[in-house]
Amino acid sequence: MKTSPFPCDLALKMFRNGLVLFALFILVGLGGCQPFARSSRVWSLSPQYEAPSGELHLQANQNDLIQPGSAIGPSQEENTNDKPVFILAFIPLNWQADLQAFEQEATRQSQFFIRESGITVYFHVNVLTLDSGPQNIALDSDHLIEELIRYGQGKVQADRFIGLTDGDLIDDEIADMEGWTDGPGSLGLVLEAGNEKLLAHEMGHTLGLCDEYNYSDWSQQNKTYSGGCPNPYPPDCPKLITQEIICIGERTEDGRFSLMGPAGLDGNYGFNTKSLKHLSRVFNRYSQNKTR
Ligand SMILES: [Zn+2]
Repeated sequence: MKTSPFPCDLALKMFRNGLVLFALFILVGLGGCQPFARSSRVWSLSPQYEAPSGELHLQANQNDLIQPGSAIGPSQEENTNDKPVFILAFIPLNWQADLQAFEQEATRQSQFFIRESGITVYFHVNVLTLDSGPQNIALDSDHLIEELIRYGQGKVQADRFIGLTDGDLIDDEIADMEGWTDGPGSLGLVLEAGNEKLLAHEMGHTLGLCDEYNYSDWSQQNKTYSGGCPNPYPPDCPKLITQEIICIGERTEDGRFSLMGPAGLDGNYGFNTKSLKHLSRVFNRYSQNKTR
């Protein structure tokens, strides 16, 4: 059963054996975001999360990686001795366009997440793209994430398996759903191509952040996420029980819209202060576990 369809938007890494590495991005200014073209419903969801597993599984080890499809990113060597590696593996799900378009979309999503999350303070991020994915997978399956993870783990080691489709993810209850995941600790998430911020939003959920666009979803997640929601429901937003989007979320320190709020607002997005603090704590803890 689909426990938490999160609608939502990372990083790069390198392999030996011809895998190229991707290195880091340059922290670009904040002006690169475009407004979402679609309605703000795209990030709504009905959250019934499973109990969080609590721990991320950072099993990636560069030396253990088996041959992936390819790695993308600048062809620039990077010294990986000082930080552990975090691997994002993109897997095509019923991808119809060509492989180049797939890699471009994976890069776009990855770059946005890497830039906004601050992950490179703690990790070297490698982005991998597999050349093929599971055949004829049902995009409306409640087991999509499980199947994705199983498929991905048979191909490559990664910290997150990201199913990317240029088809249509479907949920019975959510119109125009563009992505979802199983919540904190989930190794998998699925995204539709198009909105570069989706990976950042869904990664936020797998790292423990809650939705800020309505009180129903936030409070449900607050109950089910281990330790509750690290990012508060904005105090000036209505506490109505509704699936409608009733809150734009808590803005970032520099006034941008919250990535854990609704999509489709006219302006730039980023993680707000509470979200960034939480991400920093989580990355720090996991990077220490990984280097141990
Ligand atoms: Zn969400």
